[in-house]
Amino acid sequence: MPGCSAFGCSNSASKGYVMKVFPRDPNRRKIWASKVKRVGWKPTNYSVLCEVHFEPDCWEINRVDGKRKLKVDAVPTIFSYSKIKSKRKPPAVRIVNEPSSLQDTV
Ligand SMILES: [Zn+2]
Repeated sequence: MPGCSAFGCSNSASKGYVMKVFPRDPNRRKIWASKVKRVGWKPTNYSVLCEVHFEPDCWEINRVDGKRKLKVDAVPTIFSYSKIKSKRKPPAVRIVNEPSSLQDTV
């Protein structure tokens, strides 16, 4: 099985992650692909995303077989680019050091 299609993500099933194939439904596949935001890239039938890109409420709960299954309308929303965005701090206030001696001489 190939690794995760998300940019900057190298998770794979062999690393113990749950991998999810892109939906067969063209519209839903398009939504997933738009979330991945990889320029010039299109998902294939073998493209997968790992579990970390899905919010906890994307998953079905209380499965009797204990398997992790996505809800039919689940959309991956957690990607590294969104993490970078939220981590960004507002620009620091620049402290201008006016030389006080200059003011004295004017
Ligand atoms: Zn991933």
